Amino acid sequence: MDAILEPIGQFWEGFLSNPVVQLASQLIVIYVVLLWLGTAYWAFRDMQARTENPILPYFSAALIIFFTPLLFIFAVVLYLIVRPRETLAEVYERSLAEESLLAEVEKNELCPVCRDRVDSEWLVCPNCRTRLNRVCPSCNRLADPTWPLCAFCGTDFGREGGGRQRRAPVAASSSADREADAESTSDVTAEHGRLRGATNT
Ligand SMILES: [Zn+2]
Ligand SMILES: [Zn+2]
Repeated sequence: MDAILEPIGQFWEGFLSNPVVQLASQLIVIYVVLLWLGTAYWAFRDMQARTENPILPYFSAALIIFFTPLLFIFAVVLYLIVRPRETLAEVYERSLAEESLLAEVEKNELCPVCRDRVDSEWLVCPNCRTRLNRVCPSCNRLADPTWPLCAFCGTDFGREGGGRQRRAPVAASSSADREADAESTSDVTAEHGRLRGATNT
């Protein structure tokens, strides 16, 4: 038995006293300690991203430290199991998506006045005659009636459609238009006078 064990023991002694092996083992120990500390820092940052609680990040880092450089991998497994599933950014993103989905449903599916079901492509609510959309005169796409200009081609509805609408019914009340009207009527009467004179002579 000793005949077998003795060469193995001698080999071990020689192996461990080898300066290269000693250096390598020292480097491995340093690396593991750095990994241990780095993991503690990672757990701190990871918990910071997952909770608004100011104490829990320190607690998770302390958990890694407490398990020592030899056993901290078990603390990592434990941490991965019990940490909050979503990061704060993911929670925020999900709530945003839910909100926009809700807004879309409310905006597109129901008439804002009578709450009847409408289609997002309809121009007018068939139930209460509320204007739901307008057609852009420039690009012929559907535009929200509250938009001051077309979101697709940039046509300004205030100048384009509104201006024309204002001119037709309210023309008489605008002073500039009244002056133009007076000029044109005086022109017409002058024309009439000339015509009358021509027929009289
Ligand atoms: Zn309606
Ligand atoms: Zn347009």
